[in-house]
Amino acid sequence: MSLTERILLGPGPSNPYPEATAGLSAPLLGHLDPEFIRILERACDGLRTVWGTANPLTLPLSGTGSIGMEAAFANTVRPGDVVVVAVNGLFGARMCDVATRYGAEVVRVDHTWGEPVDVERVLDAHPAPAVVAAVHAETSTGVESDIAALGAALRARSPETLLVADCVTSLGGMEMALDAWGVDVAYSGTQKCLGVAPGLAPFTFSERAWRRRVASPPVWYLDLGLLGAYVRGGPGGRAYHHTAPVAMVASLESALERITREGVDAVAERHREAGRRLQEGLAEMGLEPFAAEGHRLPQLTTVWVPEDVDSVKVRERLLTEYGIEIGAGVGEYASTVWRIGLMGHNARPDRAELVLAALRRVLD
Ligand code: PLP
Repeated sequence: MSLTERILLGPGPSNPYPEATAGLSAPLLGHLDPEFIRILERACDGLRTVWGTANPLTLPLSGTGSIGMEAAFANTVRPGDVVVVAVNGLFGARMCDVATRYGAEVVRVDHTWGEPVDVERVLDAHPAPAVVAAVHAETSTGVESDIAALGAALRARSPETLLVADCVTSLGGMEMALDAWGVDVAYSGTQKCLGVAPGLAPFTFSERAWRRRVASPPVWYLDLGLLGAYVRGGPGGRAYHHTAPVAMVASLESALERITREGVDAVAERHREAGRRLQEGLAEMGLEPFAAEGHRLPQLTTVWVPEDVDSVKVRERLLTEYGIEIGAGVGEYASTVWRIGLMGHNARPDRAELVLAALRRVLD
């Protein structure tokens, strides 16, 4: 087992909040223990707060962010349904693959990587799709898309359509108001701005989506009807579905308690300030940003690797000499872009200064 400590400044996982680490090591409880149920309920309340939703069906799914993506489509898509997917990076493309596997007729709206989602193009793609899906914070490119604008325009144009938002890299790091934005289904992951280890997929499903849900999804594990009976209980109490990962839920609850104590707005401001410092520092070093101006995520910065610099060697030296992990680019940008995350516990000016200082040394 490695005991090496790393400073995780890549696209995730990030270093957990100390509170999340303490929650992980608390004495284990049974998954139906009343004390654990209270922890689970507090975690679900915390998720509602950071997401800005009153959805009763809000819960951490067992699995990483991708299980949230699976659950979103498994519970909303019937074979032959039209699903419009905005693709401006790797995770939009993954949504197309997942929705197709549940029988969707996917209408893919491709964008140049590094650009945000174009609301008009997405809505023009089909007059009345069953689902429109987009990524709020595209981790592969460092771009934020305006989900509020997408939701408002969609409600005006096609009120019956459900809106699915991928919030894996935004939840816990940005102000969010899912209900006001008109988002029906959203999912996230614990390992980014929420400041917890990877392993859970926060998930939320609106009443509107519930009324239109697939009654018996093809994947038993992701059936929200069955999962809801465990999380919300019923006349006969909570029905066993699967053994909840109790330690991870306790860790998530501790992180959410820490985030809400600091204040969701203050946490978002901390992410903005750390990202601003990092992006300014990189510009002072002459590094060019990859993501389009005005749409850059503070929590995940993407820059072009300078010409004549070996991207892999720089990342290797940061890791071995300074214990700092940063990320490579994705796909065709694997060797030409770096991704530097300041998420959750790492969203601090000292982390920004640290990675800037180490990069300066390595590039010297
Ligand atoms: N969506 C986005 C935007 C992501 O960044 C990620 C992971 O980085 C995922 C989905 C998939 O999450 P996971 O790798 O936790 O399964």
